[in-house]
Order: sequence, then structure tokens, then C-alpha cells
Amino acid sequence: MLKNNVKITHFALLMSFLNFLFFHFPFFSYVVKNVDYKSFNGVFLIISLIIVVLVVNALIFYLICSLSRYVGKFLLVLFFIISAVAVYFINTYGVLIDKSMIGNILNTNYAESSSFFSIKLIIYLVVFGVLPSIYIIKVKIINETWKRFGITSSLTLLLILTLVFANASNWLWIDKNAKVIGALPMPWSYVANTYLFYKDKFKSNEKEILLPDATIKDNQKSVVVLVIGESARSQNFSLYGYKKNTNPLLSKMDNLFHFDATSCATYTTAGVKCILEHTNTDKLYEILPNYLYRNNVEVIWRTTNWGEPPVHIKNYQNREALMPNCKGEGCNYDEILLAGLKDQILASKKNKILIVLHTSTSHGPTYSKKYPPQFETFKPVCNSVELGNCSQTELINAYDNTIVYTDYILSKVIEDLKQLNEYKSTMIFVSDHGESLGEKNLYMHGVPISIAPKEQYEIPFIVWVSNGSKQVKANKVLSQNNVFHSVLNFLNIQSPIYDEGMSIYK
Ligand SMILES: [Zn+2]
Repeated sequence: MLKNNVKITHFALLMSFLNFLFFHFPFFSYVVKNVDYKSFNGVFLIISLIIVVLVVNALIFYLICSLSRYVGKFLLVLFFIISAVAVYFINTYGVLIDKSMIGNILNTNYAESSSFFSIKLIIYLVVFGVLPSIYIIKVKIINETWKRFGITSSLTLLLILTLVFANASNWLWIDKNAKVIGALPMPWSYVANTYLFYKDKFKSNEKEILLPDATIKDNQKSVVVLVIGESARSQNFSLYGYKKNTNPLLSKMDNLFHFDATSCATYTTAGVKCILEHTNTDKLYEILPNYLYRNNVEVIWRTTNWGEPPVHIKNYQNREALMPNCKGEGCNYDEILLAGLKDQILASKKNKILIVLHTSTSHGPTYSKKYPPQFETFKPVCNSVELGNCSQTELINAYDNTIVYTDYILSKVIEDLKQLNEYKSTMIFVSDHGESLGEKNLYMHGVPISIAPKEQYEIPFIVWVSNGSKQVKANKVLSQNNVFHSVLNFLNIQSPIYDEGMSIYK
């Protein structure tokens, strides 16, 4: 069937057909789910979309290959390989390949991406990516005369325009669903969204906008430990009414408060930015650690994670920097963030200290690898990276164990702070975003916030205060932006941008 010589029109049609067959299942299953396919209009829209997808892609492939066969072949190989991986992720995790997802992928480090490797991914890659690529590379494409090229392209264009206008009554539907359907057709979803991502990145690469200077108002020694959670959702904390006991330690703690809260976004970079900035904005204002450091506060950043806005401080410590001073099995997990922390606080010559611990405990898909074995409280657990293969119970058990481990980490932070008698101290725990665990067939996170399910943005906001330091307001629903103003309040730092209404402390 596959000849060695093929006319360019046939080649473009074949490529478009394979592209349709391999990579458009998520697109059309979304469309079918969201139109009334029993009505004439619905059927007409579905058929039109099938034709448009086939014809538009064929036309684009045809144009590129007419201009240069080599460029055309190169791009097609690239598209088939990337689309194979993209469709694997869409089918396995229910993700959308939109702008923020491209950002997640481009920011993901090797350790994180290697946790996604699976046999199924290899099969997708070989069948949908490598095999078509071999054909594309080997085939000899026969070009047409320029006259025929002109006729073919203009007739095709006419057909597309006719279909688009015949569907005028469906434009509203397409506009309403643009967010999702723009993220599904391969390869244009990732081509367009990669462009959008870099456009935004270029924009936000501008220097951070400095905030007006701040003044430290007293000499009282005080320390804030801000723990940034990763993919922790409030509904799995027993503090928030979860039926399994995932907070055995925190639930016994005095002076501990928890509040309902929502995240600004459903992915790490935006969630962390929101925790650190004074207001929810697309611009890059001076973030909390940079602002306090510039205004003479001791700032220490410890991380096992990534994705924060640029941090300009002296004490930035990642896993490699913390390892030499860490002892025991906990060093392979987030407990490493606590190694020598108390001594580091005591060694500071400054009265005001902010410590940020950027954890990674509940990051999927391999939840069961994020805590030491003795924290495997709920069994059996899911050990597969393909979350859809695990039973819901195994998956939730593994996730709940990461919450039990988080409970332990947070209570250790508090135990450390309790020993610092000279200091007024507080701990704030806020997650960057929530997590889907199979509800609505979604896994992990990253669905655009406007259409995300609540599992992905309902986050824990847990606060502990030392005896006699501060009182906590009866806060209703909090946002991540409350952190900035609360830290200024606790450390008694005066600033023109401080907003009393946004502080969780009295
Ligand atoms: Zn995250």
C-alpha cells in the first residue's frame, strides 16, 4: 500500500489522515461530549470539524512540502514524535496541552520527567511517532507544476472557507469551548501554545518592579517559617474534615488554625508566584523574599522543588546544598529541608527572619516514592506512573500517605520553633495548588483555573503561632496573597503596600 514514490497531494492527504487517526481522539471525544449530537446542527458541526481538520492539515502539509520537501519532512517527523508523547499524556492524565502546560513541560527537570517513563509511553512513541517517521523519511515525494499547485491550494482554501461560513451558527459554541479545543488538535495545540508561552515569558522576563522601601519597627526577635506545599489539596487533610486520619500530629497541636483557601492557579510556577507576591497580577513585582532581604530581614530559602520566580538572596539552598549537613534516611525526602534549621536561625545576627521551605511531597505521579516507608500508613498503594492503571483506593492511599508525611514535617517545624524561647514564631503552610485523583477522569493538575475542578484549587492554609506572639483573626476564605501581608504584620515591618485587611494576624 505504501509506495516509494508518491504524489505530493496524496502524501499531504495521507499525512493529514494519519495525523487525524492517531492524534485526534481526545479532540473529537471532547467535541462529541459537548455538543448535542442528536440535533442536525450538532451532527453538521461534528462532520464539518472532521472535514476541516483533515483538509486544513492536508493543505498546510501540502504548502510546506511544496516549498521545501526537506523542511516538510523534518517538521512532519517532529510533529509525529511530539504528538505521540502529547497524546499519551492527554490520554493517561487528562491534561490539556495549553500555554501553562507547555510552561510546566519546559520547566520540568530531568528527575521529574523521568518519573513519567512507562512501557505505555514507549509504545505510543514507537507506533504513533517512530513508525510514521520512518515512512516519511524514506518516501520520495513527486512535486506538481506551479499551475496545479495554484489550483489545488485555492480550491482547498475555498472549501475550508465555505465550511467555516456554513457553520456560522456554531461560532458561539466554538468560542465558548475555545480554551479546551484549542489545547487538543495536534500538532497546532503545542505549536501555538509554545509560541504563546515564550511570548509571555519574554514579557515577564523584564526586571521585577521594586516595591517601596519598608521599615522594621521593633527589635523583637521573630521568625516566620513559610512552608510551600506541593499539590496538597485540603479535602485530604483530616483537619479539614477528611474521614481518614491524615493529620495525627497536627490535630493534637495547640495554637494551630486552619482556613479554607483557594489557589490563584493550578500549576506550580503561578501558584508559588501568587504565594510570594502582594497582589494577584500578571506583572512581576518584587516577591516577598527579595523584598524582605533588601530591607534587612534575614531570608533563607530551602527547596526540594523548582518553579519559583527569581529569588535574589544570599541563603538559597537546594537539595545539593543541604545534603552535606543532613543525616539519616529522611535526607532522601522532604525532611532534608529541616536539617540544621534551628541552628541556622540561632546563628543569625538579625532580629527578623523569614524562612521559606519549598517542599515537593505530594507531587505526582509517583506519590508512593515521596515519603519514607514507615509513613506508609494506608495500604495497598499505587506504585505505577500510569495512574489510570491503579485502583482509586490504591491511588488515594498513596496520596494520603504523602499528607501523613506532610503532617509530620509540619509538626517537626513547629517542634523546632517551640524550642526557640527568645523568638516569637509562626509557621504558615500553604499549597501551590490542589490535585485531581481520578475525579472526572482527571489526574494531577494544570487544568485552566476558570474551568478547573475544585480539587485542583482548594488548598490547605494552616497556621501555628507560638505562645504570646500573635493572635489569629477569624479569617473566612483566604487566598495565597494573604501570605505577603501576614508576614509583614508578624515581623512588624511597615510598608506603604501593606494591607491590614489581608493580614491573617490581629
Ligand atoms: Zn505544584
